[in-house]
Amino acid sequence: MIKVAINGYGTIGKRVADAVAAQKDMNVIGVSKTRPSAEAFIAKQRGYPLYIADISKKAAFEKVGLAVAGTVEEMCLAADVIVDATPGDVGATNKPLYEKLGKKALWQGGEDHEVAGFSFNSSCNYKDAIGRQFVRVVSCNTTGLCRIINEIDREFGVAHVHAIMVRRGSDPGEIKKGPIDAVVLDPVTVPSHHGPDVLSVLPHISITTMAMIVPTTMMHMHAIQITTKKEVTRDRVIDLIKKHPRLGLVKKSAAIKSTAELKEFAMDLGRQRADLYENCIFEDSIYANKTELCFFQAIHQEADVVVENVDAIRAMTGLEKDAATSIRMTNAALGFSPIQNNH
Ligand code: NAD
Repeated sequence: MIKVAINGYGTIGKRVADAVAAQKDMNVIGVSKTRPSAEAFIAKQRGYPLYIADISKKAAFEKVGLAVAGTVEEMCLAADVIVDATPGDVGATNKPLYEKLGKKALWQGGEDHEVAGFSFNSSCNYKDAIGRQFVRVVSCNTTGLCRIINEIDREFGVAHVHAIMVRRGSDPGEIKKGPIDAVVLDPVTVPSHHGPDVLSVLPHISITTMAMIVPTTMMHMHAIQITTKKEVTRDRVIDLIKKHPRLGLVKKSAAIKSTAELKEFAMDLGRQRADLYENCIFEDSIYANKTELCFFQAIHQEADVVVENVDAIRAMTGLEKDAATSIRMTNAALGFSPIQNNH
């Protein structure tokens, strides 16, 4: 049983904790919070021991009925692997602690590639993560891009990718981010950071990305155009998506044409937190003509990286050497099957 500590129990950390707890080969030995909050009560309800970075705040936690198991350092010491899900750029400041304790750690996409020196995606480079001390799970957008680009590249060869990301302004629970009423170019310049980030996993891919932020919290939407090396057919692309454990096909029959309807569907399906771990590729948008392939895909920013974190833990600890087996185990433990199997 691999002992996992979650340093930073927020949007990503709380989901990774539940996903780890659902697996048969790993368990959660603790989660960390900086202050008592609603999420800290969820940790208590789930039975995850609660640790805090600043022990002088212990009284504030205990005052509201939250038992404190110890410091973040004590939590990390007791773990085999630390999932760092603290806010972007904070994670890097924790690296000296993980080094001092000689522990394995994985970070999220808010950190630079350099923090771990290895950027991970289960479908693309699982084997290269085996036995590593440090790994970075790439961001939600990069995860969504890597999954589909890699699949198209293996089958048809990718000459170039042009992707436009329409990004959510904030996560649903965030009240201090925006925009409320604007389309913000993020950045104005081209390429956005997503293209270079894809290269941290798939260095041989030619890609240009552009990004903007809009007033929505539900999901990102990608408009993707791929020039392939071999002729591409729509039927084969649909076939590839249907066979992939983390690619979802939003079938024409569902008559879904928005992120809002997708999230409603996820809620109705009874998915925990209405999470969509898979890329949601709209069947009707898939257009193939000679070497040109276009489609829309929606990416649930809070969810797609969660399953990748679980696989990364298995690879780093050597629990499982085969990517497909780990992906299958992770999905099965969560009762997750891509969206096309539900309609
Ligand atoms: P979040 O703000 O929701 O959660 C971060 C948690 O870390 C909070 O519980 C906070 O209390 C805690 N924290 C803050 N400072 C800390 C410290 N010094 N030590 C320990 N804990 C501390 O953030 P998030 O959205 O979950 O993002 C975490 C990471 O995941 C970031 O790198 C982010 O870029 C990445 N990520 C986020 C999303 C998303 O859509 N939210 C998607 C993919 C990747």
